[in-house]
Amino acid sequence: MVASSDVQRLFLQAVFSRGILSYSHALVLWKKCVDAVKAANPVLDVRASERREEWDAFVNRINDALNPLDLEFRHVLDEEAGKEMYAVVNTRGDEIAQMATDYTPAEIAYFRAVVEQIMLAPNECYSLSSLAALREVNALKTNMTKSQAESVLGSLVARGWLLKSKRGRYSLSTRSLLELSPYLKSNYPDECLECTICMEIVTRGVACNTPACQTRMHQHCFRKLPAKQARSCPTCQCDWPLDRRTLRPVGEAAIRDGQDEGRRRPRKSTAEVSDEEDEEDSRMDEHVPSQSQPRRRQTRSAVAMEVDEGEEEGQDDEEEEEFLQPSRTKSRTESRRQRR
Ligand SMILES: [Zn+2]
Ligand SMILES: [Zn+2]
Repeated sequence: MVASSDVQRLFLQAVFSRGILSYSHALVLWKKCVDAVKAANPVLDVRASERREEWDAFVNRINDALNPLDLEFRHVLDEEAGKEMYAVVNTRGDEIAQMATDYTPAEIAYFRAVVEQIMLAPNECYSLSSLAALREVNALKTNMTKSQAESVLGSLVARGWLLKSKRGRYSLSTRSLLELSPYLKSNYPDECLECTICMEIVTRGVACNTPACQTRMHQHCFRKLPAKQARSCPTCQCDWPLDRRTLRPVGEAAIRDGQDEGRRRPRKSTAEVSDEEDEEDSRMDEHVPSQSQPRRRQTRSAVAMEVDEGEEEGQDDEEEEEFLQPSRTKSRTESRRQRR
């Protein structure tokens, strides 16, 4: 016998098959599911509605069923247009487990390597050239060829895990930001910049021009700021230029010519933290006059320094091992903090 809970079940099936969908698309699906259930059992009291509170109540009912499975039907605004996008997310996911049914372990390891290079990319550009993405295959202990890697990249783009720009640069899609956010936050805590306005991760948007100021905003969040508030920075209070386009970009627009050559050096594990890095830390300290200076900036420059050194010849082989284990990042960051 068809029951009202069948609306949720049908709806979830539709969501799973699509991966990620917009709010308006989700409303259409909800209505279709209600119609299907009513067609089977006309006396059932189920309905779909365009009223926000009814939609939210429906989402809550879905999550009551999903939460015991460590899943959540969650939304985020896409970084470009600010469109509300929904997907079912693994809430326990500090690993990239949700891709396991579609990709082999080697392909997931490759994806993880590409994500790492995107997160560690210079200048907060959060993107990676095609060439650099293919080069990541060399760092993996698998026999994946470049042409296989190319087809994995194509599939990741087709399934909405990565975006590929007109310039051929890869970046994280809304789906990745939504589904991988616990993974990104636990592995790249210093690179996960938060939008000053909506508090979600920013990988494309604008930054305040003041050095060391932490203000980052999505374009859509920035556009929605009342004119009065858009005149000066909420964090450092400096006046912002009248021409909004002169604010510093975050995302692909931030990459400069020739900056993309070197491979970002992967994270070190605690055991491998060397004296060399202690030196780095003390060098960093010289540039940091007070504790009030945001920690994020220090770490960012530390990453940049590591990159310079990582570009020296002969280091790539030693790095492979660590490269496969981004989850050690946290302990390294902690160990740095403890030493301070
Ligand atoms: Zn925002
Ligand atoms: Zn500022």
